[in-house]
Amino acid sequence: MSRPFLRRGLLALTLVLVGPASAGAAPNNNNSAKLTQAVTVAGIYEHLNAFQAQATANGGNRFAGLPGHDASAQYVYDRARAAGYDVRFQEFEYEAFEDQSVLTRLAPAPQKSYTRGFFQEFVGSNQAPEGTVTDTEVYAVDIMNPPLGDSTSGCEDDDFDDFVAGSIALVQRGTCNFVVKSVNAEEAGASAVIIMNEGNAGRTELDFNPGVAGTNIPVVATSSAVGFELSNGVNDGLTGTRLNLTVDFFSETLTTRNVIADSPRGAGDNVVVVGAHLDSVLDGPGINDNGSGSGTILEIAEQMTKVKPRNQVRFIWFSAEESGLIGSNFYVASLSAAERANIAAMLNFDMVASPNFARFVYDGSDPDAPAGSGAIEDLFNSYFASRGLAFEPTPFDGRSDYGPFIAAGVDIPAGGLFTGAEVPKTSAQVLLYGGTAGIPFDPCYHQACDTIANINDTALDQMSDAAAHATITLAQSTAAVNGKRGKGNFKPKPAPETPIAL
Ligand SMILES: [Zn+2]
Repeated sequence: MSRPFLRRGLLALTLVLVGPASAGAAPNNNNSAKLTQAVTVAGIYEHLNAFQAQATANGGNRFAGLPGHDASAQYVYDRARAAGYDVRFQEFEYEAFEDQSVLTRLAPAPQKSYTRGFFQEFVGSNQAPEGTVTDTEVYAVDIMNPPLGDSTSGCEDDDFDDFVAGSIALVQRGTCNFVVKSVNAEEAGASAVIIMNEGNAGRTELDFNPGVAGTNIPVVATSSAVGFELSNGVNDGLTGTRLNLTVDFFSETLTTRNVIADSPRGAGDNVVVVGAHLDSVLDGPGINDNGSGSGTILEIAEQMTKVKPRNQVRFIWFSAEESGLIGSNFYVASLSAAERANIAAMLNFDMVASPNFARFVYDGSDPDAPAGSGAIEDLFNSYFASRGLAFEPTPFDGRSDYGPFIAAGVDIPAGGLFTGAEVPKTSAQVLLYGGTAGIPFDPCYHQACDTIANINDTALDQMSDAAAHATITLAQSTAAVNGKRGKGNFKPKPAPETPIAL
């Protein structure tokens, strides 16, 4: 394990003898034992504090294309350059589209604000019009309690026979599509529509956006729990629940940039990419998601400043991950077939300090994963095993920036770590990792409370060491992944016409 205050001590000593940032004073952390000791929680916190300050000074977020992320990108650029890397920005434009809807219960007391987001409490229907309804009562349209058969709530015109015009229609998912329910509600005089999930097993969480088009009134979706709460025990009729409801989207064309830092040494035709997304969601500063991964790989880069790796190491801080892996897709699409073939492996670190953490390793042994991904998974697994730390696989499903690398036709072996997001921890996982069962791995996932206070130091310490171990191991040899043993054993290959599986 790394010692949190070792680096601070070295810096103090450096200041006395030769001044700050002297490459001459940095140790050559050219193996796992040295690098994991050099990569410390205190060192990573320097970056996390910078990210937090950048968010605080720029509206509370580091969203791709907005000033908070620009500041983070410049910070990472400057730090990596000072550490001796060949650094560049890779700029691109994208269409940002972010739900900024608000749902507040005014009555019954107490007033309550619902949490926006998938797997949270509500979302704005992303094809319905924007709009605001103020202090308006909810009307339950034939809500059924589970277990229900086919709910027709809102499918038939006569579901709205006694509807009170101007109220907010609360309809339940099922039987007919969301547009039918919403259009019927609008025709009955509803001021807005709430589509609650139905409540049967497997249909409780907010895992859908109704995407209602063709109405002139705002539409939101909720989990079944929120829907039943808003129904206030009333299955058909006015509920006594009064709401402020706003459907609002942040929609702009923005310019942002990836930051790419190449080690000046190492085989350029057997590159190890080490990636993390630097952007946050619009709703918060994104310090666990993903300041933690970004700060970890920056600290690894800084601590490798004296290393002469056999393979080139390319650190990439992707932008616009939160808008759908835009930066990583842009990067991979920008590569020629030869450049793609030169990438031996990709490591990804997205959320490595979740407050109620587990130790998840991407499931590279999945038969659909590019060949070599299983060896990367083994690298992490064997590291944790050697430290007596439990771990488990997590789906290798392309939910983060490794996705474009492992895509069919690109087929770059990849792996990485994750400490969990919105999913609740099980009691079995509590036995493995401690923490609290029944609450999410990160209760502040994609929210304003994902601040510097949302970092679990134990998780950060363990995961950053595992990340450092994998990085230095592959920097020195990718033999386990692609059979190439690095400098001296490597014959340059002709540039292929098409992407090849390494
Ligand atoms: Zn993330």
